[in-house]
Amino acid sequence: MTVSASTNKHRVVVIGSGFGGLTAVQSLKKADVQVTMVSRTTTHLFQPLLYQVATGILSEGEIAPTTRLVLRNQKNAEVLLGDVTAIDLEAQTVTSKLMSMETVLQYDSLIVAAGAQQSYFGNDQFATYAPGMKTIDDALELRGRILGAFEAAEVTTDPAERERRLTFVVIGAGPTGVELAGQIAELAERTLRGAFRTIKPSECRVILMDAAPAVLAPMGPKLGKAAQERLEKLGVEIQLNAMVTNVDYQGITVKDSGGDERRIECACKVWSAGVQANPLGKLVADQSDGTEVDRAGRVVVEPDLTVKGHPNVFVVGDLMAVKGVPGMAQGAIQGAKYATGVIKKTVAGEDDPRTRKPFKYFDKGSMATVSRFDAVMKVGKIEMSGFLAWLGWLLLHLVYLVGYKNRVSTVLNWLITFSGSGRGQMAITSQMIYARTAMERLESQRRQDALAAAEAADEGEKRA
Ligand SMILES: Cc1cc2nc3c(=O)[nH]c(=O)nc-3n(C[C@H](O)[C@H](O)[C@H](O)COP(=O)(O)OP(=O)(O)OC[C@H]3O[C@@H](n4cnc5c(N)ncnc54)[C@H](O)[C@@H]3O)c2cc1C
Repeated sequence: MTVSASTNKHRVVVIGSGFGGLTAVQSLKKADVQVTMVSRTTTHLFQPLLYQVATGILSEGEIAPTTRLVLRNQKNAEVLLGDVTAIDLEAQTVTSKLMSMETVLQYDSLIVAAGAQQSYFGNDQFATYAPGMKTIDDALELRGRILGAFEAAEVTTDPAERERRLTFVVIGAGPTGVELAGQIAELAERTLRGAFRTIKPSECRVILMDAAPAVLAPMGPKLGKAAQERLEKLGVEIQLNAMVTNVDYQGITVKDSGGDERRIECACKVWSAGVQANPLGKLVADQSDGTEVDRAGRVVVEPDLTVKGHPNVFVVGDLMAVKGVPGMAQGAIQGAKYATGVIKKTVAGEDDPRTRKPFKYFDKGSMATVSRFDAVMKVGKIEMSGFLAWLGWLLLHLVYLVGYKNRVSTVLNWLITFSGSGRGQMAITSQMIYARTAMERLESQRRQDALAAAEAADEGEKRA
């Protein structure tokens, strides 16, 4: 076990290297503090572009720069790879693990920005057949599954199996679902055209499905309808009021609003239907003086984004529940800036927790691309769809992408894909497709071994 080095500076520990975590560390660049960012990934992942990695437009490196390199010139910051397994609010420590190595970090201020993960609403077994899209692993696995489905369809001689292989179902018609369904349709129609001999990729079936009655429900009926019409023009089938009740290797079972159940045989399914906050939220809330978590596991923070009884423990980003703040990048960025603002005042001796100004969220709007040259955008009361909205989407994503080189190569890739039909990241590997099952097998073996070891120890004790 390693205990963090002592320093006479104010020690800030930041958990997570996403929008909240990285913004927090960078906002403290000029502060007289020692920051440690501990994260289970070595990168800062730009999640809004994961669907472009899944559909062969961008590489994973372009949307996930290495945080160690991003922060190399920030002398008051260090980066630690590790999975946070414990947080002790009394002792003011954070414990993380990397393989069998454990590190305990002492903090004066803590920012928890551990984000959210995919929710299968209690049906985690669906993940094996319908991966979500939260991590680089997810996006690469999906790329393998999407392109692999076309390959298998080319090889099979059974018409029913070919149809199954060429049916793609995206579950969840929020921004991620809309973007992914649109891109699978464009990939089939434009990029793969003429590349196969026994199948026509453009004849594949792409289904976007949701239990809700509308596409892009949070963006309102006008933009939802615009997105739906555009997707339908691309050939995407929209199925609303349709609840997925089972997912297996062969396909999915769907219950319609009338209560009837039906099957869709499909090889490639993607889950983008819900999110669940990281369990670290509950871990922190349970140690506070009465802070609760909401149904999605998000921490119902105080107006200054802290938990009750601990004015030095901030929860920001997707992990915090603040009325009117959506689980979007801006919520995380603004929350992190607010928390670091308070920490800077604390270090300067100017902070009094009782008189802190509450966090205020400034809504900069939301957007989603539907296809090339087409997006929907909502900023305040302004609602826009079509080419101008798409240009806005393009510029905004470039501004927030980290790293000059990444911006340049992303623009080049977009030029190739949007002005022509090529995609530069079409390689797939066996690891992309089979790693999940291999890891599940390893995990199950590990559990069995641990159980066997515990039973053997029990037996030994009884004999003794
Ligand atoms: C596919 C997709 C598309 C999206 N599109 C948009 C969009 O178009 N616009 C928009 O504004 N928002 C979008 N979002 C939402 C946006 O990405 C999130 O709101 C934002 O990433 C939240 O930032 P965060 O810092 O709270 O969490 P995250 O960015 O999720 O970061 C969490 C960090 O915590 C780390 N972590 C988690 N658990 C542990 C642990 N136990 N130990 C150590 N580290 C841990 C993770 O490795 C990660 O670095 C999208 C999200 C997804 C998944």
